[in-house]
Amino acid sequence: MKKILQDLSFSELENLIEEYGEKKFRAQQLYTGLMQGKKISAINIPSLLRGKLLEEYEDEPVKIIKTLTSADGTEKYLFSLADGNIIEGVFMKYKYGNTQCVSTQVGCRMGCKFCASTLGGLVRNLTSGEILCQVLAVNALRSEGNKRGVTNVVLMGSGEPLDNFDNTLKFLKNVSAEGGIGISPRNISLSTCGIVPKIYELADAGLPVNLTISLHQTTDEGRARTMPIAKKYSIAEVLKACGYYFDKTGRRYIFEYSLIDGENASKENADGLIKLLKGKPCHVNLIRLNEVKERTLKALSDKQAYAFAAMLEKGGLSATVRRSMGADIGGACGQLRASFIETNN
Ligand code: SAH
Repeated sequence: MKKILQDLSFSELENLIEEYGEKKFRAQQLYTGLMQGKKISAINIPSLLRGKLLEEYEDEPVKIIKTLTSADGTEKYLFSLADGNIIEGVFMKYKYGNTQCVSTQVGCRMGCKFCASTLGGLVRNLTSGEILCQVLAVNALRSEGNKRGVTNVVLMGSGEPLDNFDNTLKFLKNVSAEGGIGISPRNISLSTCGIVPKIYELADAGLPVNLTISLHQTTDEGRARTMPIAKKYSIAEVLKACGYYFDKTGRRYIFEYSLIDGENASKENADGLIKLLKGKPCHVNLIRLNEVKERTLKALSDKQAYAFAAMLEKGGLSATVRRSMGADIGGACGQLRASFIETNN
């Protein structure tokens, strides 16, 4: 695979252009084109420079190969990478803006029992440019139709962002850079299964994104049943790291809790959550399990999910049930990619 030009920050691009012996303003032309999601071959620069770049760099590192559109405006994409790997993403319209969910890895090695992304293990990390290009490709597609592009980003697609820390951090820098597409860290949410040392590193990185933790259980033993990472870091350690994140960034953190029937959704579980989280500057986001056909775990009904939320609220927690979007086009949390790979092999 060739290198990826979108991995570079603007100043790195300037250095590259200088190394090529080209005039400095070419860097700006190139950067503007890249940030519009253009292929290198479609950017208006001298053909000699274009040719040199194309020898070393991928023309189109991330290509949309399939789009599914839901009645509620949600769009799901399959992207192909230069080496033929497939990843997926989702674009959702909210009142406050348009949120794109990006993947950070091809597959995942965290092994959570309810998650489809982890079924085939980790294939490889995405580079920062490949993460950025998911946003750029969607922006470009929308601008063709004169539609508003991405205003918010969530790192909640396939992969564990903190297991690909350096590339994720570089992506966060590049996507929020002034002069680029400029999505502020405040409009970005990073979701992690809880790799504790990396939460501290993220807190110290000076990019105050919203931190979201996949909790899904109230005890370490219970959590370890569905999330192998729980054997490495305890809930207490995760909460301590969240406290540090709050002190450093002033950002309230969020817990994701995917409701699984007979596993984590009883009155005792609600009481456990209240005991664990009461008084903390946090919010609980309840997710209805997307049933994965390869797994046997079962979802709760809407009514049961709202009843669980009400118990948390009554106990003094701030909690909401996440609105289910794009239900008519199916395939959440890695399921689209999994079904694509299955039917194309
Ligand atoms: N690796 C990151 C991002 C994962 S996806 C993390 O672990 O946080 C975002 C959220 O969806 C996580 O909370 C994840 O646990 C949850 N999730 C994964 N598969 C799911 C499924 N089938 N149903 C409901 N939630 C799921």
